[in-house]
Amino acid sequence: MNKKNTLQAAMFAEMQSKNLFRKAKNHAFDYLEGAFDRNIFPTETALKNLEKFEEPMPQEAGNGEAIIDLLHEYGTPATVPYNGRYFGFVNGSMIPTSLAAKNLSIYWDQNAAMQVMSPITAKLEIVVQNWLNELFGLPKHTVAGFVSGTSMANLAALTAARFRLLKNKGWDVTEQGLFGAPKIRVVTHTHIHSSILKAISLAGFGKGNIESVDCDEHGRIIPENLPALDDSTLLILQAGNVNSGAYDNFDAICKTAKEKGAWIHIDGAFGLWAGATKRLKHLTKGFEHAHSYAVDGHKTLNTPYDSGIILCQDEEALVSALHTSASYLESNQQREGMYYTPEMSKRARVVEIWAALKYLGKDGVDEMIFEMHERAKEFAAGLAKTDGFEVLNEVVYNQVIVQCESDELTLAVMDKIQELRECWAGGSVWNGRKVIRISVCSWATTSEDIQRSVASFEKAYQLVIGQLTAIG
Ligand SMILES: *Cc1c(COP(=O)(O)O)cnc(C)c1O
Repeated sequence: MNKKNTLQAAMFAEMQSKNLFRKAKNHAFDYLEGAFDRNIFPTETALKNLEKFEEPMPQEAGNGEAIIDLLHEYGTPATVPYNGRYFGFVNGSMIPTSLAAKNLSIYWDQNAAMQVMSPITAKLEIVVQNWLNELFGLPKHTVAGFVSGTSMANLAALTAARFRLLKNKGWDVTEQGLFGAPKIRVVTHTHIHSSILKAISLAGFGKGNIESVDCDEHGRIIPENLPALDDSTLLILQAGNVNSGAYDNFDAICKTAKEKGAWIHIDGAFGLWAGATKRLKHLTKGFEHAHSYAVDGHKTLNTPYDSGIILCQDEEALVSALHTSASYLESNQQREGMYYTPEMSKRARVVEIWAALKYLGKDGVDEMIFEMHERAKEFAAGLAKTDGFEVLNEVVYNQVIVQCESDELTLAVMDKIQELRECWAGGSVWNGRKVIRISVCSWATTSEDIQRSVASFEKAYQLVIGQLTAIG
């Protein structure tokens, strides 16, 4: 037998017995047992028990099985299940096949940077890129990069835009940088997502340079208020307002903006998927005239977390911006995953997107997204009939925003809803008022979940009112 040091011997033994993995699997299965029908937020005890993790870093190597047990015992109860009654932020659930595929690929532990590192990942990236183009009706030459989420997709898109707009002015930003470069105008609107503002600052445009356009009461850009666009303009639009779910009017804007030479980027983190459906497609009409798109897998598509996509119609710009050079395009080398993302080494993220799309098929995507929309409308209708709540938005997609009579009351009711743990919704601000935001973002949400949740909203309101009258 080879002489192994004790740590190495222990790890070989773990690989051989696989007890560790069996344990993790059993705990995971326990978790799944209740994941779609359990407390929507950890109990006070579960939160308190997180103290168990507060310890100095161990000096000596430990016991793998004990570590997995510890994680399950105190970690599992302190998770938040994004199941059918979770309506917070815009957090999606996981499609079972997608989750299972991710599990398998986690055992593979692939590096998706290059084909030679993982042929299967490289193959799936090409397959999914083609499927997405077909699904969204985008030109065949549109390329996809598989990133951690829409924040990174937005940043990648903005660097591609920066490259192209400056290249058109004879300036190679990858070589010459931004100092002394011709000025790029950044035009967007007042309801754009904070991740766009972050991308604007990361890409060196400066938030202070934004030409900000007003929105209507739904949170959509007012096309008539757009400044004159030209070939030095980056125009950033939105498919799915994070509060109201509203879509900018791409049909009225994109084609003419493109003709004027502007680069159009669309943040469609959760909203772009409407463009992949038959019945909600009208919301994204005209979006094919844009240059780049950011969309998440982990929101409305319900892949597990850490899954976003940058789609770009200008391959040369994206690859030039993210890779050291675009020369591979001319030399006809093979597609490498890392050319399309800011990262080099990365997980085989495409696996779970592939599995979700393969499982759902076009009809399944259509059905799942449309059902989320239907459930959101049910939620809004239920609350509109409930004492104390006013629905503020037209439910065009999966988002509902409501308020009570005053900001104080809205916040108190929201806290009470969260305390009741029957469902979970968070807060936001809409037209200067505090609101409760509901995002129906799970394949698992049923009409019964909606009824239970509306009932919980009602109960929370009554409890708060009762407390207020008891005090007052
Ligand atoms: C969630 C969201 C983002 C950010 O996406 P991440 O996946 O969290 O990085 C950007 N834009 C909109 C409209 C969003 O809803």
